[in-house]
Amino acid sequence: MLLTITNSRYPATDLGFLLHKHPGKVQSVEVVNGKAHVFYPEVSDERCTCAILLDMDPVGLVRNSDGNPFALDQYVNDRPYVASSFMTSAISKGFSSALNGNCKAKPELVSIPLQLEVQLSVLSVKGGEEVLQQLFLPLGYELTAIQHPLDPHFPEWGESRYFTVTLKNTVTLQALLSHLYVLIPVMDNEKHYWVNEEEITKLMNKGKGWLEEHPAKELIVRRYLRYQQKLSNEALAAITVSEDTPVVEKESKQTLHDIRLKAVSDEIARLQVRSVVDLGCGEGRLIKLLLENKQLQRITGMDVSSRSLEVAARRLKLDKMIDTQRKRINLLHGSLTYRDRRLQGYEVATLVEVIEHLDEDRLLALEKNVFNEILPDTIVLTTPNKDWNITFTEDETMKRHSDHRFEWTREEFQAWCEHIRDAYKYTYEIKPLGEEIEAVGAPSQMVVFSKQ
Ligand code: SAH
Repeated sequence: MLLTITNSRYPATDLGFLLHKHPGKVQSVEVVNGKAHVFYPEVSDERCTCAILLDMDPVGLVRNSDGNPFALDQYVNDRPYVASSFMTSAISKGFSSALNGNCKAKPELVSIPLQLEVQLSVLSVKGGEEVLQQLFLPLGYELTAIQHPLDPHFPEWGESRYFTVTLKNTVTLQALLSHLYVLIPVMDNEKHYWVNEEEITKLMNKGKGWLEEHPAKELIVRRYLRYQQKLSNEALAAITVSEDTPVVEKESKQTLHDIRLKAVSDEIARLQVRSVVDLGCGEGRLIKLLLENKQLQRITGMDVSSRSLEVAARRLKLDKMIDTQRKRINLLHGSLTYRDRRLQGYEVATLVEVIEHLDEDRLLALEKNVFNEILPDTIVLTTPNKDWNITFTEDETMKRHSDHRFEWTREEFQAWCEHIRDAYKYTYEIKPLGEEIEAVGAPSQMVVFSKQ
């Protein structure tokens, strides 16, 4: 399997500095079940091409696969020959500095868009050219794809799923490599290793700055995480823009969210507490409001999305804050569905429009975590009221936010609160949020759980 990257921005040999690979040498790196050789078939100031040749060991590939849920056929196996996720590993190993945006010799080159052309000699593409277009055109690539017949001697057998693909774009090398890193396994749709939580982090990292807005985001995330719904949903939640940009929210979106945040912070003021942890804090809107409450000495925000936390830090201007203010705030990266001691020891925990972003079986993990482990005296939680959705006009979707996994009617919400009361040692009080309409209630609902 061969991948070439050509730069034609003068002086084209800048490519060598950026890749940290000398154009005069052939270099090899070990990858799982094989080697990746890096060399330059063409070097001039006008055009410079770097090739990465993946030399897989087909026998090792089969031998080392035992126990892995990687059910590739033992005897007929295309893995050594196609640009699968092995190529992704080779890219991250062979070109790690470039992929991470580092260039020791000429750091100024990192942010310069180059005229780049990529050739992938054999690429297995599930979904054919249409998928290729969906993936690359929104990123500004010019795409040429040649599909190969199953067997040239028997044209009647039709086309295979293998393509030779050329991509052209004026982008930074780092952007190009991160596109390939994520999209090669997405095209192939087979992954050679077990997908776990770490993969979300990798995806977030490499998708930063382009995946959030990509129209095929959902396809990319689901395929990248091998259709593991829970992980995909977590990842999608993490890259989905905050609650302030819902698909449909009938009341002016600012106003409704403002009402929620004000109701929650009023509740906290009423409780006269000194410490709060905002679980699923998103971009820190509640924290900003809570800072005005002088009684609060410790305000911690936690979210699974590092991107949201970055926005929160910026929004709160943490870097410019005076010391006494800065000491009151803490932002943590974590997940509500995992035990995390850092979240213990707060008087109040808030969950503002968070639970509906989790799959219902993950909700159980969240429940146990919040009501059994984190154990604050009070929990203030809000979620949309599904009854209210019938006030949407016909052309509006019934869900307010593309990432909501579920929405509860007032009855369902109450049933859940009762379940919490019975399963854990908390009492509850429900309060409507926003303007109430007869028969459907208010747009959002809030509950205050208190430790018995
Ligand atoms: N509370 C904020 C954001 C609501 S949007 C506000 O009201 O403005 C939902 C937030 O929940 C997102 O920021 C998302 O990243 C976060 N989230 C989703 N699943 C999570 C999990 N498992 N752990 C922590 N945060 C999570």
